Amino acid sequence: MYEDLRELFFKHVCQTSKEPIGLVVERSKGSFVYTSDGKAYLDFMSGIAVNNIGHTNEEVVAAIVEQANKFLHVMVYGEFVLEPQVKLAKRLSELLPEPLNVVYFTNSGTEANEGALKVAKKFTGRKKLVAFEGSFHGDTHGSLSVTGRNVYRKPFEPLLPNVVFLPFDDVNRLDEIDEETAAVITEPIQGEGGIRIPSEKFMHRLRERCSEVGALLIFDEVQTGFGRTGKMFAMEHWGVVPDIVTLAKALGGGMPLGAFVGRREIMETLSEEPPLCHVTTFGGHPVCCAAALASINVIVKMRLWERAREVGSYIVDRLRSIKENSKCISDVRGLGLMIGIEFTSGQIARMVVSEALKRCLILGWTLHSDKVVRITPPLTISQDEVEMGLRIIEEAIRECEEMALSPT
Ligand code: PMP
Repeated sequence: MYEDLRELFFKHVCQTSKEPIGLVVERSKGSFVYTSDGKAYLDFMSGIAVNNIGHTNEEVVAAIVEQANKFLHVMVYGEFVLEPQVKLAKRLSELLPEPLNVVYFTNSGTEANEGALKVAKKFTGRKKLVAFEGSFHGDTHGSLSVTGRNVYRKPFEPLLPNVVFLPFDDVNRLDEIDEETAAVITEPIQGEGGIRIPSEKFMHRLRERCSEVGALLIFDEVQTGFGRTGKMFAMEHWGVVPDIVTLAKALGGGMPLGAFVGRREIMETLSEEPPLCHVTTFGGHPVCCAAALASINVIVKMRLWERAREVGSYIVDRLRSIKENSKCISDVRGLGLMIGIEFTSGQIARMVVSEALKRCLILGWTLHSDKVVRITPPLTISQDEVEMGLRIIEEAIRECEEMALSPT
C-alpha cells in the first residue's frame, strides 16, 4: 500500500521538484503527521506556517462538519449573504487595526495578492509597482511579477511591466517610491527570503514614504499572520498600519482560504467601472470560512501569539547555544515561532533537513535562501515536543558536521 501509493504519486501527480519529501500520510493530529508505514513525524514546519493551531483541530473539524451539513457552494462570491463569510469578515475587521475593515475573500495567498495589486492600481489610477528583493508573493503571473528572485521569474516572462525591486531593509532607497507608484508590496518579515526581519526605521520610513507620495502600502501577512511571530499580525511589532493586508495560510485553520483587506473607499472600487471587475467562484467558500472562524477562536482563546513569543525565544536561545559549539551555523534569528537557522552552505542545510527527517522531524529550507532552515512549528506545540525537536536538530547538526569535516 505504502509503496503502491508512492509509485502512483510519482506517476500521476505533477511533481514540483525532483526530490519531494514523499511521506505517505495516513492522518495528522496536533504536532504530528502519521504515515502509513506506522511512523510519527514531529512537524516543525506546520505545512509551511499553516497549522498554527496544530493539525486537525477538533473544533475546526466540528465547524467544517456542521457547515457541510448546512450548505456548500451556493453562488459565486459576493452575491448571496453567507453567514460564515459575514461573521468571518466581521471578526477579521475586529482583529485588524482601523481602518482595515472591508474584506475580500480568495482561495489562496497568491490570489489575495493579485486582488490587492489590482485594487491598488484601480484606486490610484497608477501603473508602477514597487517590491523588494528576496520577497515571495505567490506563483500566479501578478504575484510572481512582484516576487524578488529573478531565477523564478525568468522562465515565465513576460510578466507585469512597471515593477521596480528595491533592496529589503534599505532605508536609503525608499525615495524611489514616487508619485507614479500605485502600490508597494512587502512581507513584514521575509519568509522565503530566509526569515529576514527589517529594522524599525525601515518600516516607519516605508509607511511615511508611501503616505508622502500617495502610494498604497500592501503588507503580505500570508506567512506571518495569526500569531506566528508573537503578535496576532506581524505589523503590530512596528505599529505600522498598511493600506491593504493580505492573508492566507493559517487563516483557514487547514482549509484553503485567503483574503485581502482594506478600507472602504479602496475596496469599493471593485464594485464599479465596470461592476464585477474582480470576481471569484469559490473565494470565501462557506466551509472554509466556518473553519477559519473556529481556528481564530482557538487562537484567541489560547492567546497563542503569547505562546509563540515564549516558546520562540526559548528555541532561539537553545539554537544559539548549539551555534556556539558548531562550525556550520552562521546565524540564528526569528520572531515568535518564525525562526531561521542559517548554515554556512546550502549543502549543509540540505543535509541537516534530511538527517532530521530520518529521525522523524519535519524541517525545511526557505525557497530563496537554501542556506536557511526554517522552524515554524504549531503554536500549540508542547514543551516535551519542543525538547524532542531540538534534540533531533542538535543530533542532525552533529552528524552533518562530522560528515562534512571527515576526510573522504
Ligand atoms: N505570500 C507569502 C508571504 C507566502 O509565504 C506565500 C506562500 N509561501 C504566498 C504569498 C503564496 O500563498 P499561496 O501558496 O497560498 O498562493
